[in-house]
Amino acid sequence: MPDLIALRSAKILAVANQKGGVGKTTTAINLGAALAESGRKVLLIDLDPQGNASTGLGIPAEEREVTTYDFVLGDAGPTEAIQDTNVKNLKIIPATTDLSSADIALIANEKRSFLLHDALRGPDMEPFEFDYILIDCPPSLNILTVNAMVAAHSIVVPLQTEFFALEGLSQLMLTLREVRQTANKDLRIEGVILTMYDRRNNLSQQVEADARDNLKDLVFKTVIPRNVRLSEAPSFAMPVLDYDSGSRGASAYRDLAAELIARER
Ligand code: ADP
Ligand code: MG
Repeated sequence: MPDLIALRSAKILAVANQKGGVGKTTTAINLGAALAESGRKVLLIDLDPQGNASTGLGIPAEEREVTTYDFVLGDAGPTEAIQDTNVKNLKIIPATTDLSSADIALIANEKRSFLLHDALRGPDMEPFEFDYILIDCPPSLNILTVNAMVAAHSIVVPLQTEFFALEGLSQLMLTLREVRQTANKDLRIEGVILTMYDRRNNLSQQVEADARDNLKDLVFKTVIPRNVRLSEAPSFAMPVLDYDSGSRGASAYRDLAAELIARER
């Protein structure tokens, strides 16, 4: 096995929640863009076979010749796999549907949970100086999400402010505990980010109160509002920060980035 290098300074965050449609990809794209806007060098790894983060950042399917699948399996190094986006300081490793066969491809591999961890710490990563690496996880607690959790320093959990939102967290916490016990004892929860928050809706307020009661400081102070500009931006292949820089969605993700950056010290 080649020696693994310590990633010079990159903080690796897995954006995870096994529930679909809670705002993982929206958070990965726009938190990534907001961190990049404030001068941080950011890599987004699209780890979802649906490839929504890749599409949302303007990488058309025909330009995804080398993908996360190749990178995870060690068939491609970072130089081949990492692509520029239209956003300054934000790069991406794109995904295609071939990632959905990773489960099967990895069954026989005894290092299957460590592949992304090792790929990100290979000697070829050394020339890349990222401050943040964000991993956009699939809506499942499968081997891909486990790879993200093993590779990451911490996880960011988008929580849609709706009824039963907290219930879904217990499964995620079980997986987190298992990963801590077996592969990554230092894995932390960076924070739970409340998404699609509707100020005028009592339910949103109630879910927020519940979340803050139960999870205390684990909940980010920043809340992401329901904002139509956030849902429109991907079809224009841009983060909301470029699509509508003055929107409430853009300013919320800037606030979230600032909250993260404030922890750097
Ligand atoms: P996930 O990656 O968890 O499946 P997405 O980020 O793709 O979730 O979000 C699901 C859908 O909700 C998408 O159509 C997205 O554009 C929309 N969406 C996400 N966050 C918001 C928000 N804060 N306001 C409005 N629409 C949102
Ligand atoms: Mg997604």
